[in-house]
Amino acid sequence: MTIIMPEDLTCAICEKESTQQVLISTNAMGHSDLDLRPPEMQRSTMHTWVQRCRSCGYCAPSIEEAIEGAETLLGEERYRKIRAKRSYPALARDFLCWSLLAENAGDLLEAGWAALHAAWVLDDEGKEKVAAECRGKAADLFIQAIKKRKKPCKSAGESELLVTDILRRCGRFEDARDMGLEGLDRMPRSFVEKLLLFELERIKEGDTGRYTVKDALPFLR
Ligand SMILES: [Zn+2]
Repeated sequence: MTIIMPEDLTCAICEKESTQQVLISTNAMGHSDLDLRPPEMQRSTMHTWVQRCRSCGYCAPSIEEAIEGAETLLGEERYRKIRAKRSYPALARDFLCWSLLAENAGDLLEAGWAALHAAWVLDDEGKEKVAAECRGKAADLFIQAIKKRKKPCKSAGESELLVTDILRRCGRFEDARDMGLEGLDRMPRSFVEKLLLFELERIKEGDTGRYTVKDALPFLR
């Protein structure tokens, strides 16, 4: 069961107070998507994963904690440009702002996840083109992080599986194939290996569709 409570929190940047929706508890039943988007009810709690200060527009997982360099970045054109993208749903903008702040602070993994979360919001709104752009951004951030030996997932080949799925979903099939093959080179456990083979099959078909682990189950036998 999901429990969300309103809380008055003080922004670490401008010190103004605003009411934020705080996730107290939730649950996940069923299978995740291959890009690790959780099933319900957790799936519908995204609006609590990022907070936005109503006064200065600071976006972070907790506005009570300052991301390094945030104060300067908030006044910059590149941040204001995202805030001004009215064609995007507010929640997607909030995730993209958080992503930029994290990237600016050198936390490529957090930046990658926040960009991917923006893509999920855009999926729900049926905005395929911009969702694909956010996925491309997320993939590039994760690739940079992996090069620096910072992996989004723990077990062998799993990070490559995640990035393969993100690249496939945004139509970068050649990059997706290379990443999938790289994942197989990591000698992953059988479960991950089979999901990578499933991805390679989908890539061959030019398929950008969403799949859960359950959809890939026939390949796991
Ligand atoms: Zn603020």
